[in-house]
Amino acid sequence: MRSSVWAANNRYYIDGKSVALANKLFQTADTDALSRQLEKYKDQNDYKYFDENVQKFIEANKDRLNYLKDEAFSFVKQAAEKFDEERIVLSFSGGKDSTVTADVVIKAMSNPSLVHIFGDTTLEFPATTEYATRYRKSHPYAIFKVAKNYEQDFYSVCEDIGPPARLLRWCCSMFKTGPITRVLNSLYRNQAILTFYGVRKSESVNRSKYNRIEDDAESVKIQKQTVASPIFFWRDIDIWLYILSEKIDFNEAYRLGYDRVGCWCCPNNNQRAQFLSRIYMTERFKEWREFLVAFAKRIGKLDAEEYVDTGKWKARQGGNGLAAAGDVKLKFTSCTAEDHAKIYRLVRPFDDELVRMFVPFGILAPELGKKLLNETPILDYSAKVPIISVQPFSQDGYDNAVKVKTMNVADHDDLQRMIGYQIRKFNACRKCLKCESLCKAGAISIVGDSYYINPDKCVRCKICVTAKYLDGGCMMDKYLRTK
Ligand code: SF4
Ligand code: SF4
Repeated sequence: MRSSVWAANNRYYIDGKSVALANKLFQTADTDALSRQLEKYKDQNDYKYFDENVQKFIEANKDRLNYLKDEAFSFVKQAAEKFDEERIVLSFSGGKDSTVTADVVIKAMSNPSLVHIFGDTTLEFPATTEYATRYRKSHPYAIFKVAKNYEQDFYSVCEDIGPPARLLRWCCSMFKTGPITRVLNSLYRNQAILTFYGVRKSESVNRSKYNRIEDDAESVKIQKQTVASPIFFWRDIDIWLYILSEKIDFNEAYRLGYDRVGCWCCPNNNQRAQFLSRIYMTERFKEWREFLVAFAKRIGKLDAEEYVDTGKWKARQGGNGLAAAGDVKLKFTSCTAEDHAKIYRLVRPFDDELVRMFVPFGILAPELGKKLLNETPILDYSAKVPIISVQPFSQDGYDNAVKVKTMNVADHDDLQRMIGYQIRKFNACRKCLKCESLCKAGAISIVGDSYYINPDKCVRCKICVTAKYLDGGCMMDKYLRTK
């Protein structure tokens, strides 16, 4: 017997009838046996019945489609009015929402040569990479830029700071938003741009807080960027109505039953996605499970396999059990001989990179410091008076240390708190790229092993040392903090 199967959230629609499946079923299913069944019957699996039902679905919803198209096309035209077409960007992930967004924008603007930015997280489903390649071929006029972090290896970072968890998604900045911001900055630094992306209000509570069009620089990360979503009010079914009616090629992962295609290892993936990955990405999934079990043992979980298989690893918080956790702990003593001077522990030797961390506070003036002490004074940017003195220090109990004294300021504690944030960056930075994305002046660059703040670009806005924007001065404080 053959059936047409459609999956949506936790429901399956088999020949049009809704069937609810318990999550537990996905967790306990014998996926090896299912894989064998799939292989055995693969030649009999076709889209004949599915396509027939799709035709009915399209027929019945023609008016809805026309309404969606008219409304979205006029939204796009209106949003794009104030921008030259070369300053319009399509954010492309290979998922269904960004596929529809790109198609709507290209058609509304009758322009096939818009810039596309594909964020390749290095953790994509194989079907996503294949789809991106096909998309590129079928859109030969599009300017297609790939944003990818070539410098970091996902597993190596997991070894160091632990795998991502629901509240510890360091990978988003490192592999997605960071590389995308880099590409946008290199193309458009200081120019106003409009990015169309496929955010939808119904996707999650968090997303429902976004506006359909947004130009608040804080939330959109790069300077002078407006972001707009033509499909903001669309439901899941609207997306499929558009894709199937307009006969748009889409990511094969959806045909396998995935309802979202992000990173294959995302802790936010649901049970069904993991069940499907066990079937369709068997080797990669086994390797990931083995890694998680070994990691769980390393951080002292007694029943490591259960911790992994029941999904408890996704609720991990902080850096318990990890050596790296020591790097975010700020250790200091107050200098007994001088007022407003603190001696901070460093996890590696004092060097110029540490001194350059003080650029946000003012002008580095080593020529005015005591040479024998290797002292660097920092001058207030406007008044040109020294407000900080930095020098390497030796202290019992600390292999490496720095002495930092503040002067000529009203609030010494506040300045020392911000200085502490920079010391933490020096000790704990794992190159997650958050700082690069955060600095709207483009002054921060993280290349290879070095963190560099360009004094000529820094406008001393202090965003990078303000808790509101970067709590603790470094994302690692959140990811590795222990109680
Ligand atoms: S965020 Fe502000 S203070 Fe920090 S480096 Fe950039 S411009 Fe300078
Ligand atoms: S200092 Fe921290 S927040 Fe900034 S890039 Fe490095 S790891 Fe990320």
